Amino acid sequence: MPEVLVKSDQDLKELERRHSSGGVPRRDVVIVRGNGSRLYDDRGRAYIDLGSAHGWAVLGHSHPDVTQRIQQQAERLVSYTESGYNDQRALWFRELSAILAREIGTSDKGTLCRIHPCNSGTEAIEAALKVARLFTGRTDFIAFNRGFHGRTLGALSATANPHFRDPFAPLVPGFSHLPFNDVNALDRAIGEQTAGVILEVVQGEGGVHFADREFVTRVRDLCSQRGALVILDEIQTGLGRTGRWFACQHHELAPDIIALGKGLGGGMPMGAVAWRDSFGAIPAGTHGSTFGGGPLACAASRATLDVLERDRLIDRSARLGDEVTSFFTALRAPLIRAVRGLGLMVGIELRTRVGGVLEQLLERGVWALPAGRTVLRLLPPLTIADADLREALDIVGDALRGA
Ligand code: PLP
Repeated sequence: MPEVLVKSDQDLKELERRHSSGGVPRRDVVIVRGNGSRLYDDRGRAYIDLGSAHGWAVLGHSHPDVTQRIQQQAERLVSYTESGYNDQRALWFRELSAILAREIGTSDKGTLCRIHPCNSGTEAIEAALKVARLFTGRTDFIAFNRGFHGRTLGALSATANPHFRDPFAPLVPGFSHLPFNDVNALDRAIGEQTAGVILEVVQGEGGVHFADREFVTRVRDLCSQRGALVILDEIQTGLGRTGRWFACQHHELAPDIIALGKGLGGGMPMGAVAWRDSFGAIPAGTHGSTFGGGPLACAASRATLDVLERDRLIDRSARLGDEVTSFFTALRAPLIRAVRGLGLMVGIELRTRVGGVLEQLLERGVWALPAGRTVLRLLPPLTIADADLREALDIVGDALRGA
């Protein structure tokens, strides 16, 4: 197969510029292939992917086990809705809920074993908000400054950043945003109409900021006392990213509802929201999705979960993450203001805007991510080869030292 399907990369870029919505700014590279932690452009140049393609590629690109399972399943059945039973979906339900039960455990409301499968992170948040209203009979939500939960209207209402929100006002009523880690503000805000408190244990898009242990403990206690639900957004932090299966495990936080996405589908578009057994099923017809829980996505997800377990990638994330954070903490670079890392989720707060650094890195063959204007965010695949990681760290280190 030819590497690209149009004559020159200028033609190709012109086509994208002409037809894309414009909502997602592009870097000036035509990516046509991926293998492990490397991406390749149409000229065959390699880039080490320190962003896991915006966080989903926990196993890197075209992982052989996932690819094989996708190929096999594509020949049997690509998609079928939840209106019929399916072998892949049933097994995926069992395997994912077993991981959730083992890792996050049981609360007085049972395990996180009721699951709605969907196609993206933002859809998982929509579903989480809807079921929280159903289960509590309440209307309101509390979310946090710098939190990011997606771009559909409900998820956007939970998202704090005015840059994302303001052009689309009015949003869904009933949402308030509090300072992150502010226990007193939380205490004052949870009321009789609060259906849920929604948070990321590590805020990803907002700049890699950690929730304090004391804060999440208070979130749990206050929600339990006042009948509100704890809704965790583990779309970016889940599936081993922070060195545990789920970031809430760092604080033994037991959510009532958890939203997953990104790495869950092994690259197939997939999200999921899971809730505690005692809430039961939602009434028929109140929520659903044509493609959600399709056999192809479920097969890819099952392969991903298998590889994460088999290759002990959660431990690897913790170990490599410590190395990455130590590397940048020890780096004598005046450009660095602070380094925050948990597993392979690392934020380097700069004294300058991150855009120029990202461009330099791309020129030197490293694809990294921003988080806001001044944070360089690194989310390497959990499978990244040792040599690739070392090479990439040297490149990022040189760029930050101005070398
Ligand atoms: N929640 C968090 C924490 C995210 O990081 C993201 C995406 O970056 C989303 C929700 C939205 O996920 P998606 O882009 O799959 O809709």
